[in-house]
Amino acid sequence: MKKSLPVETGMFHSAANSYKELQQLLERTYAIFEAHKKKAYLPVTEAVKMEFSSNSKIGGIPYLRNENDWPVCPNCQRNMDLLVQLNLADLPERQADGLVQLFYCTAKEADCSSMLEGYLPFSKASVVRKIAITGPSAKVRPNLTEVFQEKRIVGWQACFDYPHREEYDSLGIEVPHDGVFDYLYEQKIGSPIRKDKLFGWPYWVQGAKYPQNPETGSQMQFLFQLASFDHLNYRFGDDGTGHITQGAENTGQLAFGWAGH
Ligand SMILES: [Zn+2]
Repeated sequence: MKKSLPVETGMFHSAANSYKELQQLLERTYAIFEAHKKKAYLPVTEAVKMEFSSNSKIGGIPYLRNENDWPVCPNCQRNMDLLVQLNLADLPERQADGLVQLFYCTAKEADCSSMLEGYLPFSKASVVRKIAITGPSAKVRPNLTEVFQEKRIVGWQACFDYPHREEYDSLGIEVPHDGVFDYLYEQKIGSPIRKDKLFGWPYWVQGAKYPQNPETGSQMQFLFQLASFDHLNYRFGDDGTGHITQGAENTGQLAFGWAGH
């Protein structure tokens, strides 16, 4: 990603008096990006016929331990939509046993997302849980009229990811020059990816909002991001992004929150 920028670019005239000075600003900004980069993984998916299975998937129908295992929305009494299911043994790193499942009520008429303040972590509009696989999935007829197209996650595309600028203060990052930084960030150099992804850094729409772990009081860690209309045919607010976070000490503690414009 290291490329020299043309020194005659208008916006840089005020940033540096010379080509050498501009190069130094760029090098220092790149060094910050390098120091904070993390690996993220974009899901590679295939649209499949939906099945009650323990596969990693976006949309579709879940793995169920028994016939009463599909969460029900407390507002509309429907079964909640499965947004994501991750089989932890399939992950490209940090593998574990079991499944992480995110359910959310997207019912339009009952407007459960608004009624239950679904954007907030620990809202009753969402259920995000870690469960063990205890045998073949139960099969039920859900109380739902529509289900999201099931997209099985068949692979992960690794890429580098960088923190959102909203996190710079809390990370103690000071950029050497705002104009240079803004330019690179707008070019998506050194910025977080705004797509569905595993690990990496969250793309925040309205400030960095990691939930607090209710059991330990510590900040929860980012696990998975859902972007509006990426793999899931759903929009979080106005083009928002949603985040599954996980307890650092107790990985069974999970939360889901989202923000839009
Ligand atoms: Zn509902």
